[in-house]
Amino acid sequence: MSRFLNNNLSSFDAYVPGEQPTDKKYIKLNTNEFPYEPSPRIKQEITKEVIEDLRLYPPTEFEDLKQSVANLYNVDKAQVYVGNGSDEVIAFSYMAFFDKGDKLYSPDITYGFYSVYAKLFNINLEKIALKEDFSLYVEDYINLDANIIIANPNAPSGLVISVDDIERIVKANPDRLVIIDEAYADFWGQSCVSLTKIYDNLLVIQTLSKSRALAGMRIGVAIGSPDLIEDLNKVKFSFHPYNVNRLSGLCAKIAVEDREYFESTVSKVIQTRERIKAELADLGFEMTDSQTNFIFAKTEKISGEGLYLELKNRGILVRHFSDPRTKDYVRISVGTDNEMNILVSSIKDILEKL
Ligand SMILES: *Cc1c(COP(=O)(O)O)cnc(C)c1O
Repeated sequence: MSRFLNNNLSSFDAYVPGEQPTDKKYIKLNTNEFPYEPSPRIKQEITKEVIEDLRLYPPTEFEDLKQSVANLYNVDKAQVYVGNGSDEVIAFSYMAFFDKGDKLYSPDITYGFYSVYAKLFNINLEKIALKEDFSLYVEDYINLDANIIIANPNAPSGLVISVDDIERIVKANPDRLVIIDEAYADFWGQSCVSLTKIYDNLLVIQTLSKSRALAGMRIGVAIGSPDLIEDLNKVKFSFHPYNVNRLSGLCAKIAVEDREYFESTVSKVIQTRERIKAELADLGFEMTDSQTNFIFAKTEKISGEGLYLELKNRGILVRHFSDPRTKDYVRISVGTDNEMNILVSSIKDILEKL
């Protein structure tokens, strides 16, 4: 740290992403990337002309991408915001809808960036404890005195609350903004996006990093009332009007429009998830009912950290968290069938040698 770092940044630790190792080739099941390639149409559409155009600044508004997203969810294009990964969309929401010192509610066990951004922007994040089994008491979110952010499905539990419960929360806080992060909703097959047509205090954030296999392209979207979207655009035009690059905008549009490929690959991941859950249960693992592309599992036979380290020794990366409530678990992204078969046989081997 230099002697010039400001007091605020000196006072907290930055977000720690899952490892992205370059030292050797791992089976990477630690950051919930999609195991299959993005829409094969992308290869055909990155033409010589597309490359030549890279000398130009990108458009500030990807109108056709927004239209594709609007068509997908049957909403108006004016309800769609496109940004550089949903992390940036979340950050822009914090910038748009909070003043320094404002309060924000979120579950205690959830995506780590919610609290890091809160510190970065001087927002007071108040954590509401989930139940012992990581499920959420909807009653805890009725009539609150500040805005709310919830991941649904949640991470790292993979648990969902129903769209009806989201609606209850949105209705019960009419003067509070409710932000729902649906990074994993496609693996659940449900979404609360349609509620944005009824409620102007709901902002839904999604990403193309998980179910659309474009983590490397950094595209996130927000869907909400046209006024909320205008506010996000105000942040964008005050910060970085060219936040989405040309290639990313193009790939995102193709990925959103190639519904057939999307549906077949997502359902493959879901099938693999359910098969591996059953196999891990046979090995004595306890798991949450994850509706995402990851499995959250623990066993009394070995600690979460122990399993993480043993797997890493065998060339398989999973995610382990040190929080007291989650430290017994590992979070395992759903890979290809072959990767998951290697995972299961490695776990068997680890357990046998204990
Ligand atoms: C992966 C993830 C994100 C970030 O996605 P990007 O679009 O890649 O920035 C946001 N929220 C949750 C809950 C995630 O798991």
